[in-house]
Amino acid sequence: MPFCPSCGYEYKKDVITCPDCHRTLVEKLPEERPVKDTQLISIYSLPGMVYAEMVKEALEKAGIRCIIKSDVMTSGLQSKGSQSVGGSCQILVDKKNKKKALDILHTMVDHI
Ligand SMILES: [Zn+2]
Repeated sequence: MPFCPSCGYEYKKDVITCPDCHRTLVEKLPEERPVKDTQLISIYSLPGMVYAEMVKEALEKAGIRCIIKSDVMTSGLQSKGSQSVGGSCQILVDKKNKKKALDILHTMVDHI
């Protein structure tokens, strides 16, 4: 079964590239620890999912796996009406990628 080297998702045999990361799938994942063993830390907070997605894309292009943690999604009970668009999003990366990710982020922030 092919795997995406970027997000680690497993695909069916006839899939060649990951639709999310646009990376060519590999037969086996490179030497990488399972997600549960990686230590994800929050490196940055962005004012919305759009920005977070931009950052995620840039990081993944650089080979850094990252996860977006949205306050909107985790807050569960929303009592302030339906205004959930403005919630902040945390960018989480593996601890070992923190410096590299921050470098990329800082070059991006000027453009956001
Ligand atoms: Zn992928």
